[in-house]
Amino acid sequence: MTTPRLSCPLCRGTDFQQETARQDSRWGLTSHRMTLMICRRCRYVLHFYDKHSIFDFD
Ligand SMILES: [Zn+2]
Repeated sequence: MTTPRLSCPLCRGTDFQQETARQDSRWGLTSHRMTLMICRRCRYVLHFYDKHSIFDFD
């Protein structure tokens, strides 16, 4: 069982800046916490709606 490694689809970089964004839904029922992974090389932004779907940092 291997840990998936995130790599940039554009430049194949593996160094990312992690940002967390909160996005409230239009109907006010739920609020999504979104994780943004920003490539440090080309600034390409990957969006994730569930942090745990990427990999475990801790
Ligand atoms: Zn990149």
